[in-house]
Amino acid sequence: MTILDGKALSLKIKNEIKEEVAKLKKEKNIVPGLAVILVGNDPASHTYVKMKAKACKEVGIYSITHEMPESISQDEIIETILMMNKNPNIDGILVQLPLPNHIDTTKILEVIDPKKDVDGFHPYNFGRLNQGLDSFVPCTPLGVMELLKEYKIDVKGKDACVVGASNIVGKPMAALLLNEFATVDICHIFTKDLKAHTKNADILVVGVGKPNLITEDMVKDGAIVIDIGINKLENGKIVGDVDFENVSKKASFITPVPGGVGPMTIAMLLKNTLKAAKNR
Ligand code: NAD
Repeated sequence: MTILDGKALSLKIKNEIKEEVAKLKKEKNIVPGLAVILVGNDPASHTYVKMKAKACKEVGIYSITHEMPESISQDEIIETILMMNKNPNIDGILVQLPLPNHIDTTKILEVIDPKKDVDGFHPYNFGRLNQGLDSFVPCTPLGVMELLKEYKIDVKGKDACVVGASNIVGKPMAALLLNEFATVDICHIFTKDLKAHTKNADILVVGVGKPNLITEDMVKDGAIVIDIGINKLENGKIVGDVDFENVSKKASFITPVPGGVGPMTIAMLLKNTLKAAKNR
């Protein structure tokens, strides 16, 4: 069994991005800029935004966080996005999710200029992704594909199962695997017999948010197992959706949590922001 080391790969990618950012500055006097919109007091969202800002700083990307109170109106968020759309120093715009209940997330994401949509959540980019065209791809599934590539795991012709079908994780994950010619099965909360699907998978990708959802008996011998889930247990420990201890004995490759997909997500945000800046 081989551990898919997302932490190590993310460091390697960050170093490459740092060099490219320096080159862009030297040759074109462009400093990539990322604007983050953070609404409310969700502690996890605050942590993620801090990690993203820190990563930007490390590689020389300028970042600014617009912190807004929970009570902010939808129109005020939209106004800020429109301002960032026009700002020539901002290449990427990211709205940290989830947003408070009184805000229509779809409406907010649709206001972002698709050319600055470094999270890849705009329907324009999602549509292009599904057609196999160049687009901004959501960072988490993009990070998974980079990990597979790094470990020379060929996806073509393999049976893949994606558990979780959200717009930001499961659906784009399935689209990326399909674009690389895997045969993709997508499961969700209403899937009748989850095990019947997972057990068949050469590549099993899980992004649900339920600790120990995937147990050893649900996994094929020698499967490649990617755990996107992030769950904080009562004792403060962070775990994924896969029973790592037992499933790792059966898998040929597996991502740990933490240290697997998480750091790759941030590295891909930097990559997308650099890509947007290069298109400036
Ligand atoms: P979500 O709540 O939007 O979607 C969860 C999906 O799981 C839904 O499609 C739902 O139908 C499905 N689901 C729920 N219970 C299920 C069950 N028992 N069996 C099968 N499917 C089930 O969540 P999300 O935003 O897609 O995030 C999923 C997980 O990924 C969370 O743990 C989140 O923290 C994590 N995440 C990690 C990263 C990262 O960088 N590693 C990034 C984003 C999200």
